[in-house]
Amino acid sequence: CGIIGYIGPRRACEVLVEGLKRLEYRGYDSAGIATEHGGILYVKKGAGKIGELAEKLRFLELPGNRGIGHTRWATHGIPNDINAHPQLDCTGKIAVVHNGIIENYLELKDELLRRGHVFRSDTDTEVIAHLIEESLRQFKNFEEAFRVALLRLRGSFAVAVLFADDREHLYVARKDSPLIIGVGNGETFVASDIPAFLAYTNRAIFLDDGEYAIIARDSFVVKDIVTGRAKEKRIHEIGWT
Ligand code: GLU
Repeated sequence: CGIIGYIGPRRACEVLVEGLKRLEYRGYDSAGIATEHGGILYVKKGAGKIGELAEKLRFLELPGNRGIGHTRWATHGIPNDINAHPQLDCTGKIAVVHNGIIENYLELKDELLRRGHVFRSDTDTEVIAHLIEESLRQFKNFEEAFRVALLRLRGSFAVAVLFADDREHLYVARKDSPLIIGVGNGETFVASDIPAFLAYTNRAIFLDDGEYAIIARDSFVVKDIVTGRAKEKRIHEIGWT
């Protein structure tokens, strides 16, 4: 299973499909990508192999220079097209990809259902999208909405979020599941493992457990999920061989 994210001048779909292929070795049963263009999210996903899906669903036709991609190894909900990631909130403006397990998802889902949320999938992941939707309504601030939603999660996660309405950023976080930022020149990547972006940059920042990051084309900031305080991170230069 794996995650890839991109923000920069390139066609995001190309970087995402390429990155997902390089993460195939991690194993998966489904895959999907979401891009943003003109404030609209474009999502394609399904059960099966990336090469076949990319052709059948035309991944490479998705517009935009910003996006997230995912290979899923199902833990909650069978491998099918609906349970494939990205998962969306009710408004369709928040796309989430996730590796790991949200241990308290049933409790969160019950709570969200009672407040009127409609769920489409059987995944634990979908609660994250709905939690962010709620906190965004409350705080009217993308970063705070993301952070407050993360505070509700028990279990493990590497997660990447694409907001239709925040066109400058990607939001990512990790706890007990790897996530690495690739720092390019005027472009930024995020992935579960370095090979996913090594063709573009060898400068990497390793997120630690309990950290989240706000990623832009030419900048990034890493913060602590609990305190919201910024952290100093070292850039590692990865050998090309
Ligand atoms: N628990 C999530 C799901 O079943 C993510 C699985 C994964 O790590 O790919 O959808």
